[in-house]
Amino acid sequence: MLGTKGLNWMDRQTLAQDLERKIDGRVLVEAPLRHFTTWRVGGPADIMVIPHSAGDIKAALLFARENRLPVTVIGNGSNLLVLDGGIRGLVIKPGGGLKSVSLQEETITAEGGVMLSALARTALKASLSGLEFAGGIPATLGGGIMMNAGAFGQDIGSLIQQVETIDAQGKEQKWLKEQIAFSYRSSSFQGQDLIILKAVLRMTPAAREDIAARMERNNKVRNKIQPLGSPTAGSVFRNPAGHYAGKLIEEAGLKGRRIGGAAVSPKHANFIINCGGATGRDILELIKTIQNRVFEEKGIKLVPEVLVMGEDG
Ligand SMILES: Cc1cc2nc3c(=O)[nH]c(=O)nc-3n(C[C@H](O)[C@H](O)[C@H](O)COP(=O)(O)OP(=O)(O)OC[C@H]3O[C@@H](n4cnc5c(N)ncnc54)[C@H](O)[C@@H]3O)c2cc1C
Repeated sequence: MLGTKGLNWMDRQTLAQDLERKIDGRVLVEAPLRHFTTWRVGGPADIMVIPHSAGDIKAALLFARENRLPVTVIGNGSNLLVLDGGIRGLVIKPGGGLKSVSLQEETITAEGGVMLSALARTALKASLSGLEFAGGIPATLGGGIMMNAGAFGQDIGSLIQQVETIDAQGKEQKWLKEQIAFSYRSSSFQGQDLIILKAVLRMTPAAREDIAARMERNNKVRNKIQPLGSPTAGSVFRNPAGHYAGKLIEEAGLKGRRIGGAAVSPKHANFIINCGGATGRDILELIKTIQNRVFEEKGIKLVPEVLVMGEDG
């Protein structure tokens, strides 16, 4: 058996070459995940697959099964803290290739790798309202659905009509909206070992100028309150019921607090910025420091919204 720790350099090369013969997409060996996360941190993926099609994803999943490799899926890496030891086994990134989008009257059908910002622009051009909140979220559709990405009182879950997934055995399935539960930054797909291949979104026709105005207003708000010039993963903590995580962190005196290359943003306390050269450990330590301090000061346990993946370096 090829255990996760047991893969040496030669194993990785051989496996990658075998897999390359089975798919049209790209296969990378020891791919530095800091290049694939918005925080710009993360050690290597043993083998990374950037599929060209759903068929590639199926082939990669079956290959992983045959070779007993664990599989991890990443979108645009905008909600991930990948630790410095990286991720063992196969990392599949649908964002590289699954990018087709089509319009049918009031619905948009898009593959899981399409960026939400691109979908928002498509919707604007077609005078379809619903995605105005999403223009500034640097996420793929798959990652957005998984996390039920949202802002300004709207979220992706409320637009979803249908989702197509594939599981680790290569079985494809269609889910109607009634079969999916969405809540604050969460969907019932979490923890199910499924890859989102495609989704159908129901939009609302509206005047293009109105949609454009809402998008612009949302972008202005983001620019004003978020540290968009630095590498981040968006909001680090979920807002506890009745509170804003950023306010609690600020009131605990933590704005600007730094560990190694990671700092609590002076602009928005629920963002941790990579000031340059931050490690996954720096960010993890800062997250724990914030949790401890806010708990001491306020008696509230902050729960991370970002997902921690991989091995400590
Ligand atoms: C500057 C900035 C602003 C942000 N603003 C917002 C905001 O306003 N609202 C908000 O909700 N979030 C925001 N975020 C956080 C982030 O963009 C969202 O959580 C987003 O949904 C993550 O999407 P992703 O494609 O980057 O997924 P990733 O972060 O790569 O992955 C997130 C999860 O989804 C899974 N996943 C990804 N793709 C697939 C797929 N195709 N099939 C199955 N599982 C998949 C991964 O395994 C992981 O569990 C922001 C982030 C940044 C950096």
